[in-house]
Amino acid sequence: MSTPGRTLDGAVIPAERIDTIFGSDIFSRTVMRQRLPKEVYRSLLRTIDQGDPLDPAVADVVAASMKDWAIENGASHYTHWFQPLTGQTAEKHDSLAAPDGNGGVVFNFSGSELVQGEPDASSFPSGGLRATFEARGYTAWDATSPAFLMRGDNNVTLCIPTAFVSWTGEALDTKIPLLRSVEALSQQALRVLKIFGTDKGVRRVYTTVGAEQEYFLIDRDLYYKRPDLVTSERTLFGAKPPKGQQLEDHYFGTIPPRVLAFMSEAETELYRLGVPVKTRHNEVAPGQYEIAPLFEPSHIASDHQMQIMETLKRVAPRYGLQALLHEKPFAGVNGSGKHNNWSMSTDTGVNLLDPQDDTHTNMQFLVFLVATIRAVDVHADLLRASIASAANDHRLGANEAPPAIISIFLGKMLSDILEQVGKGLPKRTIRGGTLDLGAKTLPQLPRHSGDRNRTSPFAFTGNKFEFRAVGSTASIAWPNTVLNTIVAESLDYVAGELERAVGSNPSPARLLQGVLGVLKRVIKEHKRVIFDGDNYSEEWHAEAGRRGLPNLKDSVQAFGVLRGKKNAELFKKYGVLNRSEYDSRIHIAIEKYVKQLGIEAETMVSIAKSQILPAALEHQRRTAEAIAATKAAGVAADDSTQALREFVELVSQFRTRTAEVEKLSAYHDADPAKHAAQIARELKPAMVRLREIGDALEAVVAAELWPLPSYRTLLFLK
Ligand code: ADP
Ligand code: MG
Repeated sequence: MSTPGRTLDGAVIPAERIDTIFGSDIFSRTVMRQRLPKEVYRSLLRTIDQGDPLDPAVADVVAASMKDWAIENGASHYTHWFQPLTGQTAEKHDSLAAPDGNGGVVFNFSGSELVQGEPDASSFPSGGLRATFEARGYTAWDATSPAFLMRGDNNVTLCIPTAFVSWTGEALDTKIPLLRSVEALSQQALRVLKIFGTDKGVRRVYTTVGAEQEYFLIDRDLYYKRPDLVTSERTLFGAKPPKGQQLEDHYFGTIPPRVLAFMSEAETELYRLGVPVKTRHNEVAPGQYEIAPLFEPSHIASDHQMQIMETLKRVAPRYGLQALLHEKPFAGVNGSGKHNNWSMSTDTGVNLLDPQDDTHTNMQFLVFLVATIRAVDVHADLLRASIASAANDHRLGANEAPPAIISIFLGKMLSDILEQVGKGLPKRTIRGGTLDLGAKTLPQLPRHSGDRNRTSPFAFTGNKFEFRAVGSTASIAWPNTVLNTIVAESLDYVAGELERAVGSNPSPARLLQGVLGVLKRVIKEHKRVIFDGDNYSEEWHAEAGRRGLPNLKDSVQAFGVLRGKKNAELFKKYGVLNRSEYDSRIHIAIEKYVKQLGIEAETMVSIAKSQILPAALEHQRRTAEAIAATKAAGVAADDSTQALREFVELVSQFRTRTAEVEKLSAYHDADPAKHAAQIARELKPAMVRLREIGDALEAVVAAELWPLPSYRTLLFLK
């Protein structure tokens, strides 16, 4: 929004310009302006931009126009497109054509069909909000997110972004709480602006999000030869290749031609959908890539993020590739995450986290900054829990992703200013100066005032925060809902303190004194969460312990925090989730964890028994026969006999450990939280032990007998 020319509904200018090059598949503002009567268009914009209630008469006209546009573009069906609590998107297609009663066909799409749908809610997870027989649920048109056409190989479907609620009015999706959290933050942010007298003409404050997506690409034929990848998107067995990422020669390397062809097609489809994708490059691990869009208002960014993931998956097979979005498809190789860049902006286009030139004099910025720092400190446990999942457990804390300890990186310039505030009136802003490259033909580069830190989970990066611990498969809706809510709470607190300190209509001097006093106090209380050093180091873990920062090592610990009363009340207080809506989300997260690991354990046992064991036994037989033949030829085969003995021992251990996983995975507890605890305590370690032996076998069994494509083929085939 701080970029000139941006609009709030995600129909960003780049997309509208782009449509003259790539064509457009969104019912964009340009299309609406051309097709809708002027009055209808204006009324709709009031709904989109100002949140005015939707006029039913307007809905009928918009629906008719949308239908014509869709049919002209080849659509035969329409669907309400929504994000239930599965973490994915859902759609149920209805034909746009209907019998006309005279043996012919009419194309019909009414305002009420546009505005409201009624999918059967009983088959979506509700986490106890609804019993199976309580089926009624509604989808409601979200006019602020543009309708789009989904193009399949021989089909086009009109998709209408919607919110999904139960008949009781409780949110059954990820979008409604996200929108509510923005509203909560907006109200509190406006209070702060009012204190500074900068609220003139500002109706709302939005949060802005740009999420960078990492993913792997592998050959699709190989993918189908790995049941573990097919069922759980991660390899459950697989010995490390001799060449991993030690050379770090993949990062930003030349993009392989087949991959580049895939990327171009995926990007073209995304442009057509109005998703402003901007960057693409090779990531650190072999076979790993990244795609990043420009930032947008958070609920649009969240819709678009889902479309990015779906488009990567949909387009890859056309190039014989399979896109893996899992957080850790390959052990011993870097996993994938999603960097969630986040800021706050007024609807007049002011980025509230932009420090500007003389940052030390920019008190309003410092208030928003310090309120965010306080939010992250007070609610570190909740923020950590917002990104907990079975898959993300493989990544957080390993030296490739931020640790599970939440801390903030500020950089030299801001740390220095906060230190100055601690002492009184800040007097200076450290500047970066320029970088002289020592060669006359090269330009002088303006330099940032501090270096970057890529080990921090929550880093200030110039004019936004980057939350780096989000998992690559996760929907960004929930982590952003949490972020918005905790910052709303913190702004509420800080605004209250400021209002008390400065009163109404303060003089500039009183305002400055009041603000400095509040800042000083809040910084003192919460600076323990700021850490500019190496988050991967052991010293930091010890230091964080001394500072009393929470360290929730895995998802099961994080789920425990979510269940705490303090957090449930926070969401209730700010109108984001009522108690049962909140409980349902926790229930679903835990259930998903249990199911995911259950599937993995079962798949592991099946691969062990039906693929690895037969291969190992065949290898054993061949070896034994070779030894017998050698002996029969009159040559002693002593060391081969010893090697065979060791191999037989390995196979026997493999059997024992397979049985162990099988037994532990048969456990059941009606309470999913207890079941999850058993998994973390017993099943997961048993799976690690089984894998160890499986990978040891891979290293010695004849390559031609090994039933699974190796890491080497998976990762280095371009
Ligand atoms: P990196 O160097 O980490 O790859 P970039 O500087 O390229 O990051 O930006 C990453 C993302 O941050 C992009 O999606 C960009 O649009 C987004 N971004 C930039 N400004 C803001 C902002 N004010 N609010 C939210 N996201 C932003
Ligand atoms: Mg980044």
